[in-house]
Amino acid sequence: MIARGRGKPIHYLQNVQLWIWLLIGGGAVLFIGIAMALALLNPDTPANQLVSGSNVWLFIVPAGMAGTGVYMSLRWWRCPYCRRPLNTKGAIPERCPRCGNALREG
Ligand SMILES: [Zn+2]
Repeated sequence: MIARGRGKPIHYLQNVQLWIWLLIGGGAVLFIGIAMALALLNPDTPANQLVSGSNVWLFIVPAGMAGTGVYMSLRWWRCPYCRRPLNTKGAIPERCPRCGNALREG
């Protein structure tokens, strides 16, 4: 880890971040895995016909995981003290811009 002179995010935010990554990342990996499995199981089927009405349900789980991750980021990626939504792109600020509580430890 690169020392940036700031503490690591508070436990709550680390936890939320982990879950969002697990859900979105896991959903993406699962999606690719299912698509590859379908391609391997049906080597004679053109790629654009692999997903049909009979197997489209397989993609509900990864889509649901990714959707849950997006939902969690909207619902829980916030200051735990005042519920102000946090910037999803930049780094976590040292203190909440609204209530001033520390969002990083140390
Ligand atoms: Zn706050």
